[in-house]
Amino acid sequence: MTLITESKLRMMLKNGIPNPFPIQAGDKITPAATDFLRDRNIEIQDGRSVQRPKSSSSQREPELQIPVGISNRHIHLAPEHVQVLFGDGHELTKYRDLSQPGQFAATEQLTILGPKGFIKNVRILGPVRSESQVEISVTDGFQLGIHPPTRLSGSLADTPGITLIGPKGVVVLQQGVIVAKRHIHMSTENAKTFGVVDGDELIIRTAGERPVIFPDVVVRVHPEFSLDLHLDLDEGNSAGLKTGDLATVIGKNGMFMQRQGG
Ligand SMILES: [Zn+2]
Repeated sequence: MTLITESKLRMMLKNGIPNPFPIQAGDKITPAATDFLRDRNIEIQDGRSVQRPKSSSSQREPELQIPVGISNRHIHLAPEHVQVLFGDGHELTKYRDLSQPGQFAATEQLTILGPKGFIKNVRILGPVRSESQVEISVTDGFQLGIHPPTRLSGSLADTPGITLIGPKGVVVLQQGVIVAKRHIHMSTENAKTFGVVDGDELIIRTAGERPVIFPDVVVRVHPEFSLDLHLDLDEGNSAGLKTGDLATVIGKNGMFMQRQGG
């Protein structure tokens, strides 16, 4: 027998709660846990009294959900650029932790300057990296006058440059500006649950007032990653999403999943 409590569900939230949520014969669920699921529009699939057919093909598989993280424009810096922009010996200071282990938003901010305009107070994310990289939205690109390609982080060949202005100095990057390609971080265990490997592309459907289907969300698997669908601000706004909303996996590598009754 399993006792399903609200606190157990809260712990599951990080890795996604299946919808519908299955309750097996012999399980017990507390009233608070029932409310918790109802508040999130998660259906309870009560297997305690219903006779399930033996054939697996007639069973509805639970939905797979992924929490959304919306990234605003931000900068990753190489150590030597931290020194130029903020002074010798300077180290980035943590403002708050990000969802991925070890990653943090720094208190330090910069102005970024393109051929047409500038944007002030752009957040730096730590820790430092081997190469400086600036991630902006397409909308930001119009303001700055640059039109970078959509890339996964670290893929910087043939990308436009930009000028970084800090309190102690200026760095002119010859390349390194990208529009971040949407992606999902997941642990090795998550990947097993979702039946995917690194590099697979998932089809994702969002909920809410402006539902959108993203057909090509690249999966990034690492033992340390926590489950998170990363979108930029343009994508988030177009779908009416905010960080913490849940999105549903509806297919993989161009194929929709087969579901009974869905
Ligand atoms: Zn990410």
